[in-house]
Amino acid sequence: MPREYPIEKTRNIGFIAHIDAGKTTVSERVLYYTGRTHKIGEVHEGTATMDWMVQERERGITITAAATTCFWSKNDQLYRINIIDTPGHIDFTAEVQRSLRVLDGVVVIFDGVAGVEPQSETVWRQANRFGVPKLAFINKMDRIGADWQMSIDSIQKKLAAKPVPLNIPIGTEENFEGVIDLFKMKEIHFGEPFGSKVEEKEIRPEYQERARLMRERMIEQIVEIDEDLMNQYFEGKEIAEEVLKKALRRATCLNQLVPVLCGTALKNKGIQPLLDAIIEYLPSPVDKEEICGYHPQTNQQESRKPSDNEPFSALVFKITTDPFVGKLAFFRVYSGTLKAGETILNTSKMEKERLGRIVRMHAAMREEVKEVFAGDIAAAVGLKTVQTGDTLSDPSQPILLEPPSFPEPVISVAIEPKTRADQEKISLALSHLLEEDPTLKIKTDPETGQTLLSGMGELHLEIIVDRLRREFGVEAVTGRPQVAYKETITTPVKVEGKYIRQTGGRGQYGHVWVELEPLERGKGFEFVNKIKGGIIPSEFIPWVERGIKNALEKGVLAGYPVVDIRATLYDGSYHEVDSSNLAFEIAGRIALQEGEKKAAPTMLEPIMKLEVVIPPEFLGEVVGDLNSRRAKIKEITERVNSKVIDATIPLASMVGYATALRSLTRGRGSFVIEFSHYEEVPRHLQEEIIGTLDKKKSTG
Ligand code: GDP
Repeated sequence: MPREYPIEKTRNIGFIAHIDAGKTTVSERVLYYTGRTHKIGEVHEGTATMDWMVQERERGITITAAATTCFWSKNDQLYRINIIDTPGHIDFTAEVQRSLRVLDGVVVIFDGVAGVEPQSETVWRQANRFGVPKLAFINKMDRIGADWQMSIDSIQKKLAAKPVPLNIPIGTEENFEGVIDLFKMKEIHFGEPFGSKVEEKEIRPEYQERARLMRERMIEQIVEIDEDLMNQYFEGKEIAEEVLKKALRRATCLNQLVPVLCGTALKNKGIQPLLDAIIEYLPSPVDKEEICGYHPQTNQQESRKPSDNEPFSALVFKITTDPFVGKLAFFRVYSGTLKAGETILNTSKMEKERLGRIVRMHAAMREEVKEVFAGDIAAAVGLKTVQTGDTLSDPSQPILLEPPSFPEPVISVAIEPKTRADQEKISLALSHLLEEDPTLKIKTDPETGQTLLSGMGELHLEIIVDRLRREFGVEAVTGRPQVAYKETITTPVKVEGKYIRQTGGRGQYGHVWVELEPLERGKGFEFVNKIKGGIIPSEFIPWVERGIKNALEKGVLAGYPVVDIRATLYDGSYHEVDSSNLAFEIAGRIALQEGEKKAAPTMLEPIMKLEVVIPPEFLGEVVGDLNSRRAKIKEITERVNSKVIDATIPLASMVGYATALRSLTRGRGSFVIEFSHYEEVPRHLQEEIIGTLDKKKSTG
């Protein structure tokens, strides 16, 4: 079956914004207007989309699909736009990063009253890190206090970007009427309410001079990045609109310029020009040359071009549960094609699976698809092994697009269902959430029997608990957040592990000599077998390793997992009759426990990267407070009207920081944190932590 849409006519985009800037409203309007231009299948005239929107709004959520497909026609050509949902919060960056990875461009939405806010700044920087091209939309031009010029300036100053306004507002606040298109040099008016017709009018006299100036400035900004064009321009030659637009597209795709549009989503103004700009300036999948990964067995670098003729490769960026079809794995195809019913390799798990049905989400409905092509976004039904972040590939030509491991969770809370009814639902709900979010972990505390939920930060866990309630109807109470400490050793030791019981009946005989050595931070655990000549028969060796691994789960210092350690089994002995798997497992465990005690054990704690943005007058107090929290301040920089503090800080001293910063800065400071690495806990604090643990145990 041929593809419905050429790959050049596909846009994979996302909307990102500071909370409340209008991401939801803009997305809704985009789906509304695109639903009007193009109807899919049996969807009835407009109303389906509207009904769906009302329903969703009543439930308090909007676009729940991880990716929604819509169509927009421009110059009589139909384009497919896939909108990928990006999380609005930035506490757990793994998820933001994954969604930024699978999209080719983003529209950053700003509140025209506030301009650039701290959160949009952080996400902007992340988008830069991934080289994602951007458009800006200045929303809420109708709100009291809306200031278009200030918003443009803040994009330039705070984001160090080069904003190129493509249209300018006519009027502002309650007098905001529409926009002037600087290419067309026409006023653009938007019918109300929900009128999809756009009307062009001559520019009224009092705006003509300003429009001419702004157009001139726009052209200068575009030609500035292209020497040929610049020469032509200064020689006074007229440059064709098409040539300018092409140059602007190139510069946008290379992240040199950021086209800016304005409007008000709430009042339905300015959305259609935004859609046109998405088509005109954001890249299609073929604008990227290739995607790189590596071969799962040989570790050799591999790459795939965005073409149907390449071997199939795709990345799963989101798992959700659909009430009707069950588990849905959303994936982006980077190369090749795939038909429903074919077998794929989940390269991350090295498991083959048959692909059952493939679906695509539209605003109001689910569409069954027979085949997907390079550049497409779709969802697979019923894949069992896949998790967020997994690579899917052609079984005969495997490629791994992303490392299979995620950062380990750094914070936990005990979680308990409120009622008996919640008890029954909670484990099912948690298992769904686990599939969706690989940075979330669940385990049972063997001592207290409590369920422990672990994640990447306080906010991450709060959101999970909130989702349990809203999406699964499970009420739960949580304990105080606990930091995920670890233990390690600081000197090498050689240690004996002996488990010998030979009094009456069948005996037990396991005997090992193990060398323990500290490894670099982040290396985890290594087991080396140096047994020669069958001093210990090879069948027992995996059991020694198992005993050591089990003992690693609970260190001798304070019961935290032991990491960054190598255990080399180099000697031991066995007994013809009395030796058994179990005896060697126990011997391994004893060796590790004895060894850790002798090897100068120490505790490790998670250290976070912290960025705090505050008005300058609060600098002294905020820095003072950070110092008292054991933060290491790396740099303090200036941004318009604010100071930015870059620091590292132990997670343990971040508990309650949001409240503290709010009161220190009268609500005007903001911060973001991200996990960085593990570091040794200062000795005196180790004693304190161990002390409180002992107290907890003795009081039960
Ligand atoms: P999100 O948090 O970024 O998804 O923002 P929402 O789309 O939920 O919008 C936040 C609030 O701003 C809501 O009350 C919207 O009705 C309102 N809002 C969104 N767009 C506009 C706009 O263009 N003008 C005005 N005045 N309000 C808007």
